[in-house]
Amino acid sequence: MFSACFRYPAVLFLTSLIYVLVPSLASASHSWGGYHWSSDTVPPVIIRLMDNLAGDWNTGYLNPVATAWEAGYKDQTNPIPSAVKPTVEGGTLSNVRKCSAITGTVQVCNTTYGKNGWLGVAQIWISGGHITKGSVKLNDTYFNTAKYNTTAWRILVLCQEVGHTFGLDHQNENFSDPNLETCMDYTNNPESNQWPNKHDFEQLRDIYAHLPDGSTSSTSSTGSGKMPPGMFRDLHEPSEWGKLIRESQGGRTAVYERDFGGGHKVFTFVIWAR
Ligand SMILES: [Zn+2]
Ligand SMILES: [Zn+2]
Repeated sequence: MFSACFRYPAVLFLTSLIYVLVPSLASASHSWGGYHWSSDTVPPVIIRLMDNLAGDWNTGYLNPVATAWEAGYKDQTNPIPSAVKPTVEGGTLSNVRKCSAITGTVQVCNTTYGKNGWLGVAQIWISGGHITKGSVKLNDTYFNTAKYNTTAWRILVLCQEVGHTFGLDHQNENFSDPNLETCMDYTNNPESNQWPNKHDFEQLRDIYAHLPDGSTSSTSSTGSGKMPPGMFRDLHEPSEWGKLIRESQGGRTAVYERDFGGGHKVFTFVIWAR
């Protein structure tokens, strides 16, 4: 990702420094910058998915998705245990429209968010290298339409947004490429892309390999200074998502970054409905 900058010595130095400080940047190419949940135990790290789902989503989508992420890659000779252990707990949010994130959890919500263009949104709050909280929003305004009201679309989008809250990035963003058989891959046909694949579990293994973090983790992994007030706000409106840092497929998918300074950031991953 930095290759275009290599001709500048200062940037080269900085890049090497980043690789030294954050080795996962170099090795985990489909992780989200190596951001991860902190833990003082070895993997799997428990990630609390708070189930605020209702209506059609209430009939058994979140549990199978959590189970799939927990299961790891099953292979007779080379199984890869999952580095995450998502638990599904009853959500208590009264306002699923806001779906306010709560420290130490991922809030999962659905409602008719309106014709705002997005099918699903995942947000992660970062302090230093660590994810402190997350949210997943599923827009029934589009999931109620014939195109998206299928089990495959629901599973793919939920599986992908939840995957982002673990620190994973997309594996492929071209909708017309052959399916990679992972929900972290965009597609026009979700049928074979509903669940995580081997590479997802390799990525998770790499991202979380350094656990436990221990009490020695410095400001580089906790962020510095007082937590900026913005980190406690809901960032519901696209105007609050910050700068667009990546866009693909003519704007069908996008990642935004809101930087509050001192290593405190919010990333927003969007699947736009088309
Ligand atoms: Zn860590
Ligand atoms: Zn995504």
